[in-house]
Amino acid sequence: MHHEGLRESDPEVAALVAAEERREFEKIRMIPSENYVSRAVLEATGSVFTNKYSEGYAGKRYYEGQQCVDPLEEMAIARAKSLFGADHANVQPYSGSPANLAVYFALLKPNDTVMGMALPHGGHLTHGWNVSITGAFFRSVQYGVDAATGRIDMDQVRTLALAERPKLIIAGATAYPRVIDFEAFRRVADEVGAHLLVDMAHIAGLVAGGAHPSPVPHAHVVSTTTHKTLRGPRGAMLLCKEAMAKAVDKAVFPGLQGGPHNHTTAGIAVALREAATPAFREYARQVVANARALAGHLAGCGFKLVSGGTDNHLILMDVTPRGLTGKQYAKALDRAGLECNYNTVPGDPRKPFDPSGLRMGTPAITSRGMKEADMATVAAWFNRVAETPAGAEDRLDAIAAEVREFTRRFPCPGIAVG
Ligand SMILES: *Cc1c(COP(=O)(O)O)cnc(C)c1O
Repeated sequence: MHHEGLRESDPEVAALVAAEERREFEKIRMIPSENYVSRAVLEATGSVFTNKYSEGYAGKRYYEGQQCVDPLEEMAIARAKSLFGADHANVQPYSGSPANLAVYFALLKPNDTVMGMALPHGGHLTHGWNVSITGAFFRSVQYGVDAATGRIDMDQVRTLALAERPKLIIAGATAYPRVIDFEAFRRVADEVGAHLLVDMAHIAGLVAGGAHPSPVPHAHVVSTTTHKTLRGPRGAMLLCKEAMAKAVDKAVFPGLQGGPHNHTTAGIAVALREAATPAFREYARQVVANARALAGHLAGCGFKLVSGGTDNHLILMDVTPRGLTGKQYAKALDRAGLECNYNTVPGDPRKPFDPSGLRMGTPAITSRGMKEADMATVAAWFNRVAETPAGAEDRLDAIAAEVREFTRRFPCPGIAVG
């Protein structure tokens, strides 16, 4: 974008925006929760809707002047319901974490028991991890993945649920490379009389595009961010059955939040329209095909993949067998132009701030048009960085130069540097 107004009035911020555009253009961005939004989403998110206050819901606002916000929010809601086949949608949560907290507030009392996936096994902080408010204000019990298979073991989930009797069970993950059986989670929830929250933040775009089974028919409430595979602005949504609609809406506002971020709602509406197109279905299919191809090449280079591969957009590797730590490797990759994040692996003996694993995914590179054949090239760079001795920065810089040459061929949605 050109940002004339910004360049004129605040050259310092303008310079950082320009530098970030170049950085995002030159690098192979593989953090699986990130993406490139379209120019249309950027424009809607940067619109004058940021100026407007609209506490409440359409037709029941606490401020005047809602002639444009009301139809905007209703449009976003209608598109969300239609895309995911949901009875009800709330598009106001500021982000994924507050969306989940709103569900706790809607369905639980303080100290009620919740059961989610442990953070070091791939769950999110807000699924009851102890440092989170969801672990501090509620009684949290946590399931993990099977140590041998790296997969969720539904027998273990059921046994824990029968023993602990949670009021809320949470399915969904932030670092789990396999399909989640939402129907099986619902059976367990019904057996113990719990509500089921499915947090599909990472996979919402795959669900929208038909590349991952949908949780919507099975969950009492579905939460999602809008900025990961769904390729919208930073924000979140809650989807639910009509019977829970009132409780969910009340929990978001006035329970947890004040005025919704209407510029974000505008961006979400645009992203939802994009996600309903045949081109987006093809995108979702390609994200998974690329992840599968990349996983195959990485395994072929001798990397140890958690669960042995992937069904979705992300890959988790234990890099310690190659004599690396996750952090050391992620930093070397970043220097070489490949952006990932270090991550714990299930049963990790190392600390979360310097764990054994690396997490990576294909949503952003697929938005740039990379295909299966490109994954061999990418995997070869991962291997070369792993083989680069510590301190050989010049060799990492040489790889970064190759990466810059390569990425030039793949335009970034929303970014006009060349
Ligand atoms: C990203 C994520 C969230 C939180 O989203 P924020 O917008 O960062 O608060 C919640 N749950 C899961 C599973 C996620 O992956």
